[in-house]
Amino acid sequence: VTAPALATTALDLRAPEERMLLGGEWVPSSSGALLDAENPAYETLIRRVPCADAADVDRAVTAAAAAADAWRRVPWTERGRLLRELAGRIRDDAERLALIDTADGGNPAAGGRTDVEAAAARLELWSGLGGQAGGRTIPSPPGTLTFTRRSPFGVVGRILAYNHPLLFAAQALAPPLMAGNAVILKPADPTALSALELGALAQDLLPPGTLNVLPGTGAGAGHALAGHPGVPRIGFTGSLRAGRAVLVAAAEHVKTVTLELGGKNPLVVCDDADVALAATAAVRGMNLRSSNGQSCQSTSRILVHAAVHDAFVDALVEQVRALRVGPPDDPAAEVGPLVHREHLERVAGYVEGARRQGARLRCGGGRPPGLERGHFVAPAVFDDVTPDMTLAQEEVFGPVMAVMTWSDERAACALANATEYGLTANVWTRDFDRAHRFADRLQAGLVWINGPVARPPGTPFGGLKHSGLGQEQCTEELLSYTQETAVVAAYADGWP
Ligand code: NAD
Repeated sequence: VTAPALATTALDLRAPEERMLLGGEWVPSSSGALLDAENPAYETLIRRVPCADAADVDRAVTAAAAAADAWRRVPWTERGRLLRELAGRIRDDAERLALIDTADGGNPAAGGRTDVEAAAARLELWSGLGGQAGGRTIPSPPGTLTFTRRSPFGVVGRILAYNHPLLFAAQALAPPLMAGNAVILKPADPTALSALELGALAQDLLPPGTLNVLPGTGAGAGHALAGHPGVPRIGFTGSLRAGRAVLVAAAEHVKTVTLELGGKNPLVVCDDADVALAATAAVRGMNLRSSNGQSCQSTSRILVHAAVHDAFVDALVEQVRALRVGPPDDPAAEVGPLVHREHLERVAGYVEGARRQGARLRCGGGRPPGLERGHFVAPAVFDDVTPDMTLAQEEVFGPVMAVMTWSDERAACALANATEYGLTANVWTRDFDRAHRFADRLQAGLVWINGPVARPPGTPFGGLKHSGLGQEQCTEELLSYTQETAVVAAYADGWP
């Protein structure tokens, strides 16, 4: 395209400007503070959204607590019907919503459409699962009946990361709502627009206060939500640094917390792997086309057997070089910009640091030619990375891949496990025994053999080690938004 659409087209936003959804009403932040919603491809201001603070969180908790008591009494089938209705509204509005995420977050338009469909599908999936949140009966002697029941917490706070804004908002609200809780959603600071639009779609559907959408900063609304005594359950998605802060704030009130944190995910390429397919998988696994490499699951560490190293790296570099970087509304663009300037500078710092520490840059790492503005970086491949280098240890959360070499299977597995993270891992081999030796030993919440491929709905997702606490996107997530209590009842067993 000659004139990219987003540079010139005003977005069709239905949520009122500078307002947040609190207790069923669109209200300004009590301090009047605002956050800029910027288009990262053109560095233009889209609009301003309210920046909630502790006082707003407090108001939202009051509204949500009032709504929660009625909401838990709504039969789960009816809650499910309302979520399906919301899913239908999302689908009817798919093009508009995809464009909003593309403009606000910078993900390529095709990825945005996929996210919108996934958001609707997740709501539909959860809408049928409310009946799974029941209790158990426990074998008991005659004269006693022992059973458990599951009750909602009341008010749930969900704090979100920025890389899939609408999808994260939808998948974050569905399980707690289906379990009978009211929800306060805090979208990520730079990408709050689509969560507010979701609020607008749900406003006349859900009872007032059942869903509240409060944009704000981590230090402000995020911290206040994590520490508020009226929010006994926090579901957090974001960085390890912020996850730790949430745990600390939540400790005061001994809250139940689940954390979906970062990853430094290994993709192990064995000497019997199909090298071309493995290179394609490594590129796909970086999620460059869906979120510009800003993905917790990114295959950012590639551990390749020495015998196939050269062939693999050549194939990888060729594919990465061929990726077209550009404004995400350009249909030809496969990789868009990073979310904001500060993050671009952070990623540039990792590129510079890797060079300084002796890694070999095979492609990318700088501003792509022809893109004078926007937070763009060409996807980078570093070879000759060693375990002690920063790039082998720290999550970049951007389009930077680190290639390391091995020749002994046992050492490769140790290398794969030698970070503090444990989110996902991949192994590429045609040897069944070897594949399962790795799957047994890789420290990751999800191991792909010859992947990554799409995760079937219901597959548990959650990290080991410092990648998180708890599992999502499976029945356990629904249960995690309930509290199980036991009842032991005595009755007269003998006939009168
Ligand atoms: P971030 O940690 O900077 O922010 C995430 C959220 O936490 C934001 O809403 C932010 O406002 C809030 N926050 C920040 N500090 C806080 C504090 N002290 N108290 C309460 N809330 C606070 O992360 P990001 O840059 O938005 O997202 C990138 C990170 O998220 C990466 O580490 C990535 O791996 C991770 N992530 C994990 C998953 C997963 O499912 N495991 C999914 C997506 C992203």
